[in-house]
Amino acid sequence: MGNCENRKSVPELFGSAVFNDDVMMERLPKDVYKSLRKTIDEGKELDLNVANAVASAMKDWAVELGATHYTHWFQPLNGITAEKHDSFISPTSDGRVIMQFSGKELIKGEPDASSFPSGGLRATFEARGYTAWDPTSYAFVKGNSLYIPTAFCSYSGEILDKKTPLLRSMEALSTQAVRMLRLFGDEKTQQVITTVGPEQEYFLIDKELYNRRKDLIFTGRTLFGAKAPKGQELDDHYYGAIKPRVAEFMRDLDRELWKLGVLAKTKHNEVAPAQHELAPIFSTTNIATDHNQLTMEMMKTVAGRHGLVCLLHEKPFAGVNGSGKHNNWSLSTDSGKNLLDPGKRPWENLPFLLILAAVIKGVDEYQDLLRISVASAGNDHRLGGHEAPPTIISIFLGDELTAVLEAIENSRPYQSTEEKKLETGVRVLPDFNKDTTDRNRTSPFAFTGNKFEFRSLGSAISIACPNIMLNTIVAEELRQFTGELEGAADLPAAVAALVRQVVLKHKRIIFNGDGYSEEWVQEAQRRGLLNLRTTVDALPRYLDQKNVELFARHRVYTEAEMEARYETIMEEYVKTLNIESLTMGGMVRQEILPAVSSYIASLAEAVGAKRAILAGLPCVAETALIEKLSALLDKAYGQVEELLLMVEDPKTQSQNILTAATHYRDEVIPAMNRLRATIDEMEQNVSSKYWPYPSYADLMYST
Ligand code: ADP
Ligand code: MG
Repeated sequence: MGNCENRKSVPELFGSAVFNDDVMMERLPKDVYKSLRKTIDEGKELDLNVANAVASAMKDWAVELGATHYTHWFQPLNGITAEKHDSFISPTSDGRVIMQFSGKELIKGEPDASSFPSGGLRATFEARGYTAWDPTSYAFVKGNSLYIPTAFCSYSGEILDKKTPLLRSMEALSTQAVRMLRLFGDEKTQQVITTVGPEQEYFLIDKELYNRRKDLIFTGRTLFGAKAPKGQELDDHYYGAIKPRVAEFMRDLDRELWKLGVLAKTKHNEVAPAQHELAPIFSTTNIATDHNQLTMEMMKTVAGRHGLVCLLHEKPFAGVNGSGKHNNWSLSTDSGKNLLDPGKRPWENLPFLLILAAVIKGVDEYQDLLRISVASAGNDHRLGGHEAPPTIISIFLGDELTAVLEAIENSRPYQSTEEKKLETGVRVLPDFNKDTTDRNRTSPFAFTGNKFEFRSLGSAISIACPNIMLNTIVAEELRQFTGELEGAADLPAAVAALVRQVVLKHKRIIFNGDGYSEEWVQEAQRRGLLNLRTTVDALPRYLDQKNVELFARHRVYTEAEMEARYETIMEEYVKTLNIESLTMGGMVRQEILPAVSSYIASLAEAVGAKRAILAGLPCVAETALIEKLSALLDKAYGQVEELLLMVEDPKTQSQNILTAATHYRDEVIPAMNRLRATIDEMEQNVSSKYWPYPSYADLMYST
C-alpha cells in the first residue's frame, strides 16, 4: 500500500477503486448515464453506442488508476472466481500503441473455457462459452486490471456459472413478492430485493510453518496432528484482544476491501486459537456474493504480505472448531422497507406473516435443497459435530414469534408481551422484542429479529448456491399463497386461515431447543425430518422430481443444468478425497515413517552406547519406546498400504460418480481416520527434533 493511500481517510478511500454511481455520474455524458442507469435498475438492454461510451469512460478511469489490462471476472462451478487478462493496447499505423476498450469488449468476452467444470454440459451441447457483463455489479480496479463482473454461459444458452442462476432466483423472488404486495394495495413497489450479509470465519497461521506441511499446501487442512495441550477449552480466544501481527493484517485487509467498495464492518477473534471473523454490512445478494468472493481472495493476498497464510478450509485442525459462514438473509422493497421486520405488532403485519409462513413451508418442503446447498467434503467435517449446526435442517423462531404462531394456530388473539407488561405497569417495550429471538447458536436457520441467519454454510463455499435455493423456495411458496389469496373476499381472514394451515402442517420444522443435543437427533427423526449426514447422502436428492420442477417453474435451472451441477459437486467431492488420501500416503511413506525409523535407530544407538559403558544396563525407557514405536510403525505401514490400495480400487474410476463417492465415504475416509489415529499417537511419542512437521501447538500459536 502506498504511503499516500495510507493517509487517506476512510470515506476518501472507500470505493476509490470502483466504477460506482458517483464516478459514472461524473464521467459519463448525461444521456449515457441515464440509459446505463436504466439497464442497471430495470434490466433494459444496452444500446451499442451507449456501451461504447461507457467502455471508453471506464477505460480512461481505470488507466488513471494504473490499469493496463481488463478482465471479465466470472464465477464458474468450482466455487471460486476466474479471470483472463487482456491489455488495452491497440497498434497504430506508425508502430505505436494506444489504449482502447470498446463497448463490444465490455459487454461480451470469450474465455477459452474448455477446462472449467461443466458436469458434461459443454461436451453435450457446445464447446465454447462466453461471458456477459453484469452491469448490476460495479466494475473495479485491482492490481493492474479493470475487473468487469460477468455471467458465464455456453453458446447454446446453458449456464455454466453461479451468478446467472443467482440473478434468476432474485428475479423470481422479486416477481412473486411484488405480486404478494399488490394484494395488500401496494402499487408502488416495482422490485423486491434479497439482501445478504455473510459473516466470514477464517484461520491465520505463519507462512513459514505452513510451507513445511504438504497437507496444508495440497489440501488446505492438516491431515495429521496430535492435539495441542491447550485448544479452545478456556474460551479465552473468542472476542479476545487481537495480537499486533493479526491486527496489522486486519487493518490492511479492511483498507483493501474498502477501496473495492466492500462494506467490511466487524472483526474479532473467534472460538478456536488462530481463528477470526469478518462481517460486512449487508447488501443486495448479487453484490454480497461478488464481495464475499473478493473478501476471501483478499484475505489470502493480504495474509501473504504479513508472512501469514489464511486458511479458508472448513476444518483445518481436528479438535477445535472449524470455520463457517453465516448467511444473514432478508427481503426489502425497492424503497428500502425490510419485509422481515415484524414491526411492533407482528400479529397484525400480514405481509410479514405471509413471508414468514412462506419461509416455514419452504424450508420444510425443501430441507433437502438447503442441506445440499452447503454440502462439501470440507463441510462434512463440521456439520453435526457439535461445533456447527446439525445436518438436520430446522428453524429457530424464538419465543415471541413462536407464541404469535401458536395463537394463530389456535385461532385465538395473541397477547403480546407489550400488553402483558402494560398490565404489570412496566414500561412499554419500544419495539418487537429482538432479544427473545435468539442467542441460540445451535440452530441452522434462525430468525434474528429482522432477518434469517442460515448458519450451515462452510467457510470456503460461494454463497451463491444457498441463496439460489432460498430465493427460489420462497418464490415458490409466495406464488402458491398469492394464487390462493387473490380474489379473497376477506383478505385478513384468508391470510389468517392460510397461515394457520401452514403452521398446522409444517410446525415440525420449528425447533427452539439445543440443536447440538443427541435428543434433538431422536426427536427430529420422530418428526420425520431429514438427516442427511454427508454430501453423498444429500446430493442424490437434488435431482428429485419436486426439485427439478421447482427450478424449471421459476426458470432458474433446466434439468440438464441441474444434472451438470450434481455431477460437478460429486466430482469435486471425489477429487478432494483422492488428493487428501494421496497426500496422506506420500507424507507417511516419505516423511513420517523414515523419521520415526531414524528416531528408533537413535534410541537403539543410545542403548548400545550406554551398555558399552555399563554392560547389562536395563535402559527401560529406550527399550519400551523402541517397542512401542516399532509396533506403531508396523501398524502405520499396514494402514498406509491399505489406504493406497483402496484409492486404486476400480470403484473410484466408476462411470457412475455416486459409486465412486460412496466408496470414498464408506471405505477411504474410515481408512484415513485409522491411519491418522496411529500417526497422531506416534507424534506424541517421538522427539520433536525428529518429527518432520510443525505441531498443532506451533501452528495455532504462531501468530
Ligand atoms: P450477529 O449475528 O453477530 O449478532 P448482526 O445481527 O449485527 O450480528 O449482523 C450480522 C450480519 O447480518 C451483518 O453482516 C449484517 O450486515 C447482516 N444483516 C443485518 N440486517 C440484515 C438484513 N436486513 N438483510 C441481510 N443481512 C442483514
Ligand atoms: Mg451471526
